[in-house]
Amino acid sequence: MSATVRFAPSPTGYIHIGNARTALFNWLLARRAGGRFILRLDDTDRARSTDAFAAAIAEDLAWLGVRPDQVVRQSDRFGRYDAVKADLVTKGLLYPAYETAEELEYGRRRRRARGLPPVYDRAALRLTADDRARLEAEGRQPHWRFLLPNFAADPFQPERREVHWDDLCRGPQTVDLGSLSDPVLIRADGTYLYTLPSVIDDLDLGVTHVIRGEDHVTNTGVQIAIFEALGGPVPAFGHHNLLTDASGEGLSKRTGALSLRSLREKGLEPEAVAALAVGIGTSHAVEPVASLDDLAAGFDPAAASRSAARFDPADLDHLNARTVHALPFERAAPRLQALGIPPDPAFWSAVAGNCATFAEASLWWRVVTGEGLTPIIAEEDRAFLGDAARLLPPEPFDADTFRAWTGALKDATGRKGRALFMPLRLALTGLDHGPEMAALLPLVGRAETLRRLAA
Ligand code: GLU
Repeated sequence: MSATVRFAPSPTGYIHIGNARTALFNWLLARRAGGRFILRLDDTDRARSTDAFAAAIAEDLAWLGVRPDQVVRQSDRFGRYDAVKADLVTKGLLYPAYETAEELEYGRRRRRARGLPPVYDRAALRLTADDRARLEAEGRQPHWRFLLPNFAADPFQPERREVHWDDLCRGPQTVDLGSLSDPVLIRADGTYLYTLPSVIDDLDLGVTHVIRGEDHVTNTGVQIAIFEALGGPVPAFGHHNLLTDASGEGLSKRTGALSLRSLREKGLEPEAVAALAVGIGTSHAVEPVASLDDLAAGFDPAAASRSAARFDPADLDHLNARTVHALPFERAAPRLQALGIPPDPAFWSAVAGNCATFAEASLWWRVVTGEGLTPIIAEEDRAFLGDAARLLPPEPFDADTFRAWTGALKDATGRKGRALFMPLRLALTGLDHGPEMAALLPLVGRAETLRRLAA
């Protein structure tokens, strides 16, 4: 199977972890199939879209490890949309309607009162050319509706018309076009809603699979009808469950909540963000991964559950820590260097397990060098630490030095357990927790150890 997929955000804000889920579902599907990934910027809303957000989206995706094969902007394609519009109008599939929002609301209320579904009654289809000229002379501009194929011969007698697809995430789906209003594709100010441009782009770009949030399920019924009206192949569709924040609220690009940018600034690993964005709310356990390729290997869009998934930042912190703990030295080395830490495998293996974020390596490096470190020495431990200094083995130090040292110290002082180990840790690291002392000791070295014991 070869696949062409697209991720289609509107550049109206920073993308959040829910958008990352959509991007990654598509990316992983393409990755598994050896296919193409298109970043499509849905910027038909010129007032709210900005170049800065478009650039930020590409940057945030790159941070995540998602590199598009192609970038398309809808705002570059208005000429194409206008041509398709003209064609649909000629075929009678796109018609002008003039009702105001209030008139439409009134119509819906009347239909509800009569026990009818509150859908648009297609009154505009009855307008003559003269009626339209009169309305336009009054200053009304038309919006344009797509005539849904939900009737046999008479559009005023809509009937049940099911659209089916086998959803990549949700299994068999049905939307009844008979229960929907003819969708508005072009607003009265001439701007396109996303519905039509999206279908035109998917056709022109040869998109084979569309995965997006489940808020688009009804749209898909409508868009399948538009694909068919345009004579094109209908792509496979998948609709994944949405993410909410910890309080159950939906995520929004506008609020900036849980933006990839903020997660990156918190120092989180992109692999951890990706693993959680994909794995949360699925039947699979979320495990740390070393790369998106690892994630692709176990990816199954059908594993997404039906209900919304609640995103808890604590889960991400936890997964991030596990991701850092498992980071191999080759990957850590350039990053240590970037932090000004000499890349030493012994250092990384000593501290990796104690870094909740990669940046915490700096904290442990200061423990090694002693920079800004204040040994903690209780008065009652002074004599004991004096014994420790006296019994400290000669260099070279290795992984066994600490055991040999504390063994001798135990024999000499009778101390054991916490009373033996904690004063050494407090004096040598200035902290009551941290990496194995056996691993730290060779890094700190003999002279510096003696200095801290006597501080
Ligand atoms: N711009 C649309 C959105 O962000 C794209 C939906 C789609 O993938 O078709 O909701």
